[in-house]
Amino acid sequence: MALHTAWILGDQLLERHPAVLAAQAPGVEVEILLIESQQRLLRQPYHRKKLTLLLSAMRHYAYSMEARGCRVRYIRAETIAEGLKTYADSHDPDALFTMEASEWRGRHFQHERLASLFQVPVHVLANTQFLLGQHHPFPDVPADRRIRMETFYRDMRKHFSVLMEEDGTPAGGNWNYDRDNRRALGKGITIPDRRRFQPDALTLAVMDEVAQFPEGVGKGEGFDLAVTHEQAAIALETFLDERLAQFGPYEDAMHWQHRLLFHSQLSPYLNIGLLEPMDVIRAAEERYHRGMAPINSVEGFVRQILGWREYIYWQYWRVEPQRWETNTWDAQRPLPSFFWDGDVAMNCLRTCLQGVLEDGYAHHIERLMLLTNYAMLTGLDPMQVNRWFLAHFIDAYEWVMVPNVIGMGLHADDGRVGSKPYIASANYIRKMGNYCSSCSYKARERTGPEACPYNFLYWNFLLEHEERLRAQPRLGPNVLGLRHLDEEQRTAVREQARAYLADLLHETG
Ligand code: FAD
Ligand code: SF4
Repeated sequence: MALHTAWILGDQLLERHPAVLAAQAPGVEVEILLIESQQRLLRQPYHRKKLTLLLSAMRHYAYSMEARGCRVRYIRAETIAEGLKTYADSHDPDALFTMEASEWRGRHFQHERLASLFQVPVHVLANTQFLLGQHHPFPDVPADRRIRMETFYRDMRKHFSVLMEEDGTPAGGNWNYDRDNRRALGKGITIPDRRRFQPDALTLAVMDEVAQFPEGVGKGEGFDLAVTHEQAAIALETFLDERLAQFGPYEDAMHWQHRLLFHSQLSPYLNIGLLEPMDVIRAAEERYHRGMAPINSVEGFVRQILGWREYIYWQYWRVEPQRWETNTWDAQRPLPSFFWDGDVAMNCLRTCLQGVLEDGYAHHIERLMLLTNYAMLTGLDPMQVNRWFLAHFIDAYEWVMVPNVIGMGLHADDGRVGSKPYIASANYIRKMGNYCSSCSYKARERTGPEACPYNFLYWNFLLEHEERLRAQPRLGPNVLGLRHLDEEQRTAVREQARAYLADLLHETG
């Protein structure tokens, strides 16, 4: 009987995997191949909970496919290439099927090296972890032309008919409910916890293994994430039933005791194939049609997945990889050591960093308005910031990290991804979060011994880059604020920022 091999990558654990489906044919036996590469896991330090998630999910996947009657070969090797060679030496498949990697290096390997390793027909199939595989908006637009997320998102909504009325208008009458979705968390609002899963024997064994890895960041203990499709589906249902309705109003809020708020924490599952984007979108849409969640929350959530997630992936693939190695603000400072241990006096930043070390998670506004805002205002080197993010987040993969960190967070790509640099003073953090009342710094002071660093750094950034920022229409109002600063205040801002930034250099680990 002919043998077709379906090679499944570790972050592609789809229940309906295109390589398995395409490999099936009458008179053909299909074998699923999974390879755990030591080098891939140790390429750089990763959060221990991310390593546990990946390894446990891969191994559970192998068992679940076997339980469904598939033949599975699970190989542990030094590198992916070695694992493939071991397999090719002992098996003689008639054809190899695989799905395009989501990252450049993996996809290049599939297209350039696989055929020579196997010497049989190799079928590299379109990646179904993203909807862009089914619909590619703006195919002929040159890579340098700026297409904003909103334009992209509306195209996707129309194409996939998500939250659309029959007459072609958006459900609820508007494309966007951002204005309703900027509330800080008030008192007396209950936030249901996310669904947590007790690790089973397989996961406990992986946790022990990961604890022995020579490098790794963050805490491995207390792992309670979903590692199977069934568990990820439960995590999704729990979010939809208990938190989606409030997702919209509080999506930008921050809270030092309730870090997750009404966010879904589904990115780790979407990014490794335990959930599929359209299933999540349709399930959320259904809650709207059943009257279980209001349009501002459902649209806000759908926008994240159909809009931002797809847009980010689209941006990643629009340009060659080296074009992401940009640094248009010429930011050169090394990362301070407190990024690695969370030991910093600023309450908001400390809460966020310590939370990330604990569980590898921060929600979007914490990532953008605390972490990369700070990195931008202090001029931290984008490549170092990117590596730090890649190391610390459970949902971090190159395709999503690079455009989010380099593009959106640090604006180091000169605005290909984000229309403006996301920078803010303590005013924003004080309004949207509750850290400032228990911080040793004063959020309302611009300069002086107790002034919040976000303040003098923000004003210093505006002064340093005034000319360039004036050319950014969306930053006009911020720069206009400079007219309220007299010469003496400008000097005070500059001097305090200079002293702070000089001290920061001593903080580098
Ligand atoms: P929710 O707020 O519940 O949103 C729902 C889903 O929308 C997410 O699960 C995610 O799949 C998707 N989504 C929303 N925004 C984005 C976005 N900008 N890019 C891609 N997907 C998005 N997301 C990652 O998945 N991995 C990363 O490594 C990552 N790094 C980031 C770094 C920075 C500096 C910034 C600003 C954002 C980053 N994001 C990343 C995007 C976003 O912050 C996370 O997807 C989100 O916080 C995950 O939490 P959640 O599942 O609770 O999201
Ligand atoms: Fe953060 Fe500044 Fe508020 Fe302290 S005062 S919590 S550093 S914004």
